[in-house]
Amino acid sequence: MSQKYKRVLLKISGEALGSTQIYDQSSITNVAKQIIELAQSNIQVAVVVGGGNIWRGNLSHTLKMDNISGDYMGMMATIMNALALEAIIKSLGFEKVVVYSSLEIKTVTTPYNYRNARVLLEDGYIVLFSGGTGFSYFTTDTSAVIRAIEIKADALLMAKNGVKGVYDLDPKTNSNAKFLPKLTHKMLVEKKLRVMDLTAATLASDANLDIVVFDMNGENNIIKIVNDSLDATIISNSEDN
Ligand code: UDP
Repeated sequence: MSQKYKRVLLKISGEALGSTQIYDQSSITNVAKQIIELAQSNIQVAVVVGGGNIWRGNLSHTLKMDNISGDYMGMMATIMNALALEAIIKSLGFEKVVVYSSLEIKTVTTPYNYRNARVLLEDGYIVLFSGGTGFSYFTTDTSAVIRAIEIKADALLMAKNGVKGVYDLDPKTNSNAKFLPKLTHKMLVEKKLRVMDLTAATLASDANLDIVVFDMNGENNIIKIVNDSLDATIISNSEDN
């Protein structure tokens, strides 16, 4: 099967690991198995995991908490998720996996260094990026764009749950929403299409980073997207769009 990309950064939301409970055994195992299969077929895979299955900063008010502390709780949630994914990957017999964190927890994470990350990717490691950007007021979409640029990923693969890509209107509420197979970064920013937050979209545009928005719900969809055998939306600065 033809592989479209050599090095990818996969962004998955926390909910990809569990929705009804923090970790749903079959969901997290399914994600881990697909990532391992890609690594074993010589695709260099880095992953940014969100934290929404555990906590999001916009819940701060529920604890009458300052939203900065709330954001740090969100970033800590992403570290928990990366450690959970690391554990499952190792339990499936794949040992070459590393968890970087923008917020250091020395005992269990590796401090982030883009040069080391590139070396480990070349060496076949699955690289898990956690801790978001390490700053409040950002999201893991932004950290995904930043890390994708820093590791020189061929594309950022934005996994969605239950939508096959980008539409002109919200397909969940508009039955006549039109699927958009190709988009420019400019269109993404100008039309405020809800793919990622504006900070992330602007950074991706400035860096000319290709983004592929796809539905990860479906058998082996993460593998299929790398093999270019799944309908999805491609966002690039290409004039052909
Ligand atoms: N967060 C943050 N800075 C970052 C990344 C994340 O403050 O650089 C916090 C923010 O509160 C966010 C939470 O961590 O709500 C979890 O991340 P996100 O919502 O992006 O996770 P996802 O929705 O992808 O599961």
